[in-house]
Amino acid sequence: MTEQNITQFPAASLLGYPRIGRRRELKKAVEAYWAGKIDAAALDAAAKDIQLTTAKRLQELGLNEAAAVPGTFSFYDQVLDATAHLGAVPARFGQLLNAEGQLDIDGYFTLARGNKEQQPLEMTKWFDTNYHYLVPEIGPETDFKLASNRIVEEFEFALAHGIETRPYIVGPVTYLLLSKASDDAPAGFAPLSRLEDILPVYVELLGKLAAAGASWIQLDEPALVVDQDTSAEEIQAAVARAYEVLPGAAVRPQLFVSTPYGSLDGQLGTLAATNIDALHIDVFKGAVPSAAALAGLGNKTLVAGVVDGHNIWRNDLAVSAAKLDELKAAAGKLAVSTSTSTQHVPHDTAEETQLSAQLRSWLAFADQKAVEVKTLADYLANLASAKAAIDEASAVIASRATAEGVQRADVRARTAALTEADFNRSEYSVREAAQEAALHLPPLPTTTIGSFPQTSEIRSARARNNKGDLTNEQYEQLMKDEIKRVVELQEELGYDVLVHGEPERNDMVQYFAENLEGFDVTVHGWVQSYGSRCTRPSILWGDVTRSAPITVAWAEYAQSLTNKPMKGMLTGPVTILAWSFVRDDQPLGETANQVGLALRDEIADLEAAGIKVIQVDEPALRELLPLRKADHAAYLKWSVDSFRLATAGAADATQIHTHLCYSEFGVIIDAIDGLDADVTSIEAARSRMEVVHDLEAHHFGRGVGPGVYDIHSPRVPGEAEVTELLSTAVKHVPSRQLWVNPDCGLKTRGYAETEESLRNLVKATKTVRASL
Ligand code: GLN
Ligand code: ZN
Repeated sequence: MTEQNITQFPAASLLGYPRIGRRRELKKAVEAYWAGKIDAAALDAAAKDIQLTTAKRLQELGLNEAAAVPGTFSFYDQVLDATAHLGAVPARFGQLLNAEGQLDIDGYFTLARGNKEQQPLEMTKWFDTNYHYLVPEIGPETDFKLASNRIVEEFEFALAHGIETRPYIVGPVTYLLLSKASDDAPAGFAPLSRLEDILPVYVELLGKLAAAGASWIQLDEPALVVDQDTSAEEIQAAVARAYEVLPGAAVRPQLFVSTPYGSLDGQLGTLAATNIDALHIDVFKGAVPSAAALAGLGNKTLVAGVVDGHNIWRNDLAVSAAKLDELKAAAGKLAVSTSTSTQHVPHDTAEETQLSAQLRSWLAFADQKAVEVKTLADYLANLASAKAAIDEASAVIASRATAEGVQRADVRARTAALTEADFNRSEYSVREAAQEAALHLPPLPTTTIGSFPQTSEIRSARARNNKGDLTNEQYEQLMKDEIKRVVELQEELGYDVLVHGEPERNDMVQYFAENLEGFDVTVHGWVQSYGSRCTRPSILWGDVTRSAPITVAWAEYAQSLTNKPMKGMLTGPVTILAWSFVRDDQPLGETANQVGLALRDEIADLEAAGIKVIQVDEPALRELLPLRKADHAAYLKWSVDSFRLATAGAADATQIHTHLCYSEFGVIIDAIDGLDADVTSIEAARSRMEVVHDLEAHHFGRGVGPGVYDIHSPRVPGEAEVTELLSTAVKHVPSRQLWVNPDCGLKTRGYAETEESLRNLVKATKTVRASL
């Protein structure tokens, strides 16, 4: 370390900040670049604009010390950024580096989006969030070298504007733990075995950043808070080695290691024993470590993540101040930050003027969290001004507990009166017989997952209706026309259980949030889901009830158009919770049961309207699975229970379907079984039906539809291909249980490829039926 690089760690800083832009400027620029509408220079200008706006904004909010602004901008994904800097381009992409040995922006996007020959890097969930990262593919031959200078350039750019940021990169241990073995790697190969080879690249990057004037770098190591398949001892050894080598770099900034998303537990001691300069721990979700554990930190700065980066509620500053007092007594140097990056929350509550002032006062988006962190740092510095802000937060939080709608006597009386019977249906064999008599379905019944292509006409009709340019009657008529088309198409194609196509839904969660009490929705509250894709989670702030039927009129209309069974379509309680910002003042299970009861009422109304098949989607069941194995059982209990509560009121003859969007079935197959749905559809096309082995091993005993059409790509599956997939399936799953369906909803597809694909599904089904 050179002398000029030694500065104190900023007393107040964020672990990370949204990078998509307050008005999704990055999304717009990146998509325009992909479409060839703007050039690389214009894309770069848009990115720089976001970076500078962010840095200035955070300074304005009080984070104005050196290295307080996190350099967490990314064109697509922070793990992909690390891949770029490490030059870890999978061999299957061929020569993607340019003449200077650099991965330029086009090479970078090729890894993210694939090209004609190659699938993109696989995408998967980032810890227990709804953000998705691109999985690095590492093999014994991966040739690591510094192949990007972007982190350095971004630092220099901000510095030229007078702001010293804190560069960010995913740390070496987390990077390798998040990687998968490349296809050409021998069996049993572990990416972590390449640790020794990536460390020199990090060292080189440290040198460049120090030369550019960086005083701190943030190495993000969230994988250390998760129970990994790799043993704790092996991880411990990797951490010890990595943070022996990096601090030994001849020229480097000071090293700040962040560990968001939970408690470090045993790995705290490992990091404490290294020569890093500052360590972040999550003390919002995670526990406050013992004084003995903290004593090991010695001279390091402890960066306390006391403000939640992952949810949107105003921080209870008094509680945080008490935690800081406890930490201060045990740690030498203490600084304040967020528990995680604030990339998971929107920018600013001030944008949501349509929300009531009361609700807004309860919320803290990224900008508000910056102020909270600053207030808590002021508290640590004994500034009198902090006191008033802490008291104000306490008063607001107290007002929340008693505000109208937060606790409703009617809702609470209902959940309190629940008994075991409310969670159970009749034996499956009884239901199966009743359903057979009611539905008369052929063997291998065909169906789809719910949505049909959301055409630009549908979207623009909704936008015009929202603006007032279309009356509700006109809008409704357009949706009915669409439903009619979709029903006629399915009749023509020969499907057995039909859907109405979901044209009236903007989003499978927001649609329900807009129609249930206890929720509100934002206008500008976009958060990045992956790449340029953003979602606008609803806010679940109060007790949930249904004041009127939601989907019944649409389902009834759709059923009136056909003699075939029409599937009613609902989103399940776990998914509604997972894709919303959920209240933090009661256990999730209690909130889930309230949603479950609202859906139970909806199901009763659908039945009364003559709907005989009802699907309750739970694509997020896997997503909320806790990071620590010790927490799995409790989670699976309440999540499965809420689904059962929603569905167990259905008559024996009503066929309950569920849909899950992934194929790693093995991990939670007991939970899926526990849902007790009559029919479960799952993803399977990309993994070529591997899931049927799990089903067979588990003696899965009810209806199941492993997807035979990968709807995530515009590719049309041929008739022969689908026939082969189904032939495989019938070898492992009794044919009377087997359903034929795509992997997921068709919302993002176009009509041309959808029609052709769905036609092939029916043709293949007929062939396989004939062979039974
Ligand atoms: N019914 C929804 C649809 O078809 C399910 C979507 C999902 O699983 N994500 O779009
Ligand atoms: Zn799905």
